[in-house]
Amino acid sequence: MLLHRLLPLARQVGVSPELRGWNWHQPPLKPYYDVKIPMYSVCSKYCPNDRDVYLAQVKKVKPILNFRVTLGKILHGVVSDALQGFMKGGNISFEEWWEKIRWEGLVGDRELLKRRAKQVWDFIEKNCIAQYANLSATQPYASDHDLMQSSMPFLIEHKISGELLGLSGLLSLDCYDYLRCIMFDLKVDDKQEDWHRLFPVGYAIVFESVHEVPVDVCCVLYLSFINEKLVIKKDIFFTNNELRSWWIEERDHKLEIVALKKDPGVPNACNEDCIYYKSCRGE
Ligand code: SF4
Repeated sequence: MLLHRLLPLARQVGVSPELRGWNWHQPPLKPYYDVKIPMYSVCSKYCPNDRDVYLAQVKKVKPILNFRVTLGKILHGVVSDALQGFMKGGNISFEEWWEKIRWEGLVGDRELLKRRAKQVWDFIEKNCIAQYANLSATQPYASDHDLMQSSMPFLIEHKISGELLGLSGLLSLDCYDYLRCIMFDLKVDDKQEDWHRLFPVGYAIVFESVHEVPVDVCCVLYLSFINEKLVIKKDIFFTNNELRSWWIEERDHKLEIVALKKDPGVPNACNEDCIYYKSCRGE
């Protein structure tokens, strides 16, 4: 998919220069308003009216987390810490990691959360060991450091500033594969949505704005559970003009809500799973 479809497509079709992150100083990437918002405010489409952005960024309302969001937070932590732990020589066990979780604001059945977290931790550990062993078996003269860097070529939770594009200065991207130049975003969800692609596309544009390297391929990695089994799906795609323009439209719209303090109003019906449901609808 990557070598025979996406990379040839990216070379053939290309990306318009004005949509590359390093052209942040001119339209359409140059932000109109002098406010900064987080990446999830730009990309999230959980709320049909985008009122969640108004509540969080203008009214400073604190969300009330539910099980779905808690699981997402915990599994993001597992993926990041298990991978980074392995890269540093496997210096932390799952039990030690679990004991360090700060539970403030998190909700849900802890036994179930722990079981899910352990499944993901074990999966990552086994895959890291296999990747390292495979590479080591083909390159017997490579140093440990080289084997580690090339079997797991990932920047994990890389800290980067999105300020050139009207975003927070403290962004943290899930994962960037620096050998294949792929921006990854992790979703704990069994349902794929088109707008999930906006997250890695946004990080790709930010990465281009700061490091000035092209990021032509993105991937949303879905984690879910069926019959107690961990299921992983990948949505890998070309970071084309259309997706980049969609991300810019969303960014401009959300920046406008925050800069002008525009309340987008409440729709007729909302999903009760919304983390702002109580403060927003007062029900
Ligand atoms: S309760 Fe409805 S309108 Fe309010 S933030 Fe949630 S989805 Fe949006």
